[in-house]
Amino acid sequence: MEFGPMKALVYLGPRRMELQEARDPDPEAGEVVLETAAAAICGSDLHGFREASPRRVPPLVMGHEAVGRIVAVGAGVDPARLGERAVLRPILACGACEPCRLGRTNLCARGRLVGRDLAGAFAERLAVPASAAVPISAVVPDELATLTEPLANAVHVTARSVGAGDDVLVIGAGPIGTLMVRMALEHGAGRAFVADPVAGRRELARAQGAIPLESEDPATELLERTGGRGADVVIDAAGLEPTWALGLRAVRPGGRIEAVGLGAPAGRIDFFTVVGKEVTVTGSFAWTEPDFARALELVEQGAIDTAGWFTRLPLADGQRAFEELVDTTGRFKVVLVP
Ligand SMILES: [Zn+2]
Ligand SMILES: [Zn+2]
Repeated sequence: MEFGPMKALVYLGPRRMELQEARDPDPEAGEVVLETAAAAICGSDLHGFREASPRRVPPLVMGHEAVGRIVAVGAGVDPARLGERAVLRPILACGACEPCRLGRTNLCARGRLVGRDLAGAFAERLAVPASAAVPISAVVPDELATLTEPLANAVHVTARSVGAGDDVLVIGAGPIGTLMVRMALEHGAGRAFVADPVAGRRELARAQGAIPLESEDPATELLERTGGRGADVVIDAAGLEPTWALGLRAVRPGGRIEAVGLGAPAGRIDFFTVVGKEVTVTGSFAWTEPDFARALELVEQGAIDTAGWFTRLPLADGQRAFEELVDTTGRFKVVLVP
């Protein structure tokens, strides 16, 4: 048992992160210690950084999109796993509650998330249940490996909502929206339109096969391009009053809106349109284990072209990295490296 200190990026409150010495984790029975090779900053981490959140209580080590190597195993874990390269599968579900029994582990009544309910990957090492460390091929670059978890979100949404030939509108071309574009096309969408005010982001979405809506009024442009019909499926990766309105204008009668983004907790929604168009509005949270497995398969196949996506920064620059992501749109996906 060693209790040497390690470095961890600790969230101390709104807009405050600090690199601190922390106790080196010791694996409990059934756990492994993962030595972090890279951990990406997620929009939900940014949300926690930007404002006080009841779900991310300081002091907290965030980080749930991570890849590393198993450097210690607890009692009951196969010692052959020592040295194994693994991605973090960060939702820890109980396996016994009603949603879990139905396979909807993302809705587990007692579900915990690494980097929110226990210490995460913005640290040199972390202890997690052995099942949360999933083997990944050595040939996948670290940055791409960290994309497995956000990609699983896109698999989750598109696998159930997008059908062959569908016109899809993705609102918001951040990393999640851009992955939604890629996965909508993977699941047979005829066209994937994208709306985002930032031109550089529309271009990254175009590189995934999207048709960017360039006008000031993307709903009208979408209606024109679909002969007045509208989109079969709208995926809202932003989640703000104006994007809810955009989605409702753009969706076809009888169409579907997948709400993914958490931009605002509440606001005005035009329910006359929900009723009048018979729109199905579905919330989407995270992913299930088959979604994660499919995302890992795609990552290992090199199916996602991520040119221009990643910025690698040392963990010690965490505060600056978070500030830049919150205050500017210059960076797309930042990966912190201990
Ligand atoms: Zn995430
Ligand atoms: Zn459960």
